[in-house]
Amino acid sequence: MRIVMKFGGSSLASSSRIDNAARLIAARREGGDEVVAVVSAQGDCTDELLEKSRQVSAHPAPRELDALLSSGEQIAMALVALRLQELNCPAVSLAGWQAGICTDSRHGAARITGVDTGRILAELKKGRVVVAAGFQGIDPEGDITTIGRGGSDTSAVALAAALQADLCQIYTDVSGVYSADPHLVQEAVRHDEISYDEMLEMSTLGAQVLHNRSVLLARDCGVRLEVRNSFQPECGTRVGGERCVSAVSGVTCDSDVAMMTVTGVDDGAATCRLFSALARSGVSIDVIIRSPGTAEKRGVVSFSLGGDSIHRARAALEEHRGEIGYNCLLVEPEMAKVSAVGAGMQGSCGVASRMLEALREANIEPRYITTGEIRISVVLPRPQAAEAVRRVHAAFFGA
Ligand code: ADP
Ligand code: ASP
Ligand code: MG
Repeated sequence: MRIVMKFGGSSLASSSRIDNAARLIAARREGGDEVVAVVSAQGDCTDELLEKSRQVSAHPAPRELDALLSSGEQIAMALVALRLQELNCPAVSLAGWQAGICTDSRHGAARITGVDTGRILAELKKGRVVVAAGFQGIDPEGDITTIGRGGSDTSAVALAAALQADLCQIYTDVSGVYSADPHLVQEAVRHDEISYDEMLEMSTLGAQVLHNRSVLLARDCGVRLEVRNSFQPECGTRVGGERCVSAVSGVTCDSDVAMMTVTGVDDGAATCRLFSALARSGVSIDVIIRSPGTAEKRGVVSFSLGGDSIHRARAALEEHRGEIGYNCLLVEPEMAKVSAVGAGMQGSCGVASRMLEALREANIEPRYITTGEIRISVVLPRPQAAEAVRRVHAAFFGA
């Protein structure tokens, strides 16, 4: 069969881990499979490269940043290919552009637009393992792009879809998808299978075990997807399985959330002007709470947004202050969003009250509460987030 095996940064963080990954890959090839391995940068390499860029530039140009960040995956691909060759397994490394991964030109957050599989198929035909660099591609100008932090999962699924692979395995440092981050909640339970929809919601709401676009792509292209532990590869989670029967299948935390509160936004027209200014600056908003003005009190609008959008949002609101006509702007950067996710909550009642009760018992006062079809989220101060995840998890899964 044809298989894509993706290895994350922690699975490649040292020479012995590279050897471990290479042995897993070589065993698959020896078993008669065609193997495409996709690699992330080793350990914290991408963060270290980002730090290097900050040392030489306060506002690095996105094109050059992509040229720099993509080098981490290129080091990893060469090391894995070298190790495979050492194990007598024929292998060739390919950077994103060599592997035919085409993207648009949004540096730092590019979308994969297509995969030209010619080179990979030719290498597979020669009996070689292909080791492709994840997280990167090439845009129509011929420039290197990166596809967003954690994006190697999406590179792997895109290659699996384009190559019509029978299976895409994501090897990481935990044994699959759990009911909460197992590094945060000791009692978290591993799912043998989880539906695409639940996984998509969980990864969008902070479960970084899978990049959310990888789940979307796997669902849309029907890719068979598994999450496994590179150090204990025997069991894992099949993504794309049955929905969980219980009301909640996972508790997640997104720690990169900020809140903004704008006072003096009295009527609907001013509210429209405010969100139009944010939209024009490309700021995407999550929860919105509005209290319209009255004779006694001026109107207030609060909203949450990703921490990386604070500067853009503040600049847009300050620039258009006269036009919007607001009074005062308050920014709270250190917030988090804790969510309970589960397809089983559709049509079942009492989930929100159980979640809120668990938080109240811990004296945690959510600032905002929102719901979706298969999730309930609360926004709260970041220092309370870990305890909130543990309490909510205990309420649904037991301590
Ligand atoms: P990699 O470097 O392999 O891509 P990541 O750090 O991106 O690894 O993703 C794996 C991490 O995801 C785990 O170490 C774990 O801490 C975290 N995680 C968060 N939520 C979950 C969850 N529900 N199930 C499993 N892991 C989770
Ligand atoms: N190395 C990249 C990152 O750290 C991509 C990835 O790991 O998937 O975000
Ligand atoms: Mg990852």
